[in-house]
Amino acid sequence: MTRRNFALIMPALPWLANGASTSVRGRVTLEGDARPVLLASDGAKTPLRGDRESISVLRDPRLRNDEFELRGQAVGGEFEIDPIHTRAVFIWRGGKRLVVTYWCGICSIRAWTPGKCQCCQEEMDLDPRDPELKDTDPSH
Ligand SMILES: [Zn+2]
Repeated sequence: MTRRNFALIMPALPWLANGASTSVRGRVTLEGDARPVLLASDGAKTPLRGDRESISVLRDPRLRNDEFELRGQAVGGEFEIDPIHTRAVFIWRGGKRLVVTYWCGICSIRAWTPGKCQCCQEEMDLDPRDPELKDTDPSH
């Protein structure tokens, strides 16, 4: 293999793609078209991108006064949140970092994005919790 070919292959290596995740912290405000923007403590604003599920969490009015911690990558002047299944959306409450989940107490079903329970169609409860707990562990 020539040196030139090696250089072309490098960017496709998965450890390079996964190694760039960082965390950002701050409140989330919504600007035009409910577009989420991270508001850092120094007032700096960073537009947020992510999958539909992550954006739904950021838009949840129950989290409007919480400090978020988001894992992902800076892309240009924006921040791209890692996919929802990697558990990239946290809030800080009482000095503890909690992963944002949603819980239906009727069906004992957990979800990672707000909405209606897939089983009973009731609105699911916000249930931020210790990231060490398993999805199947009950709410309290
Ligand atoms: Zn349910």
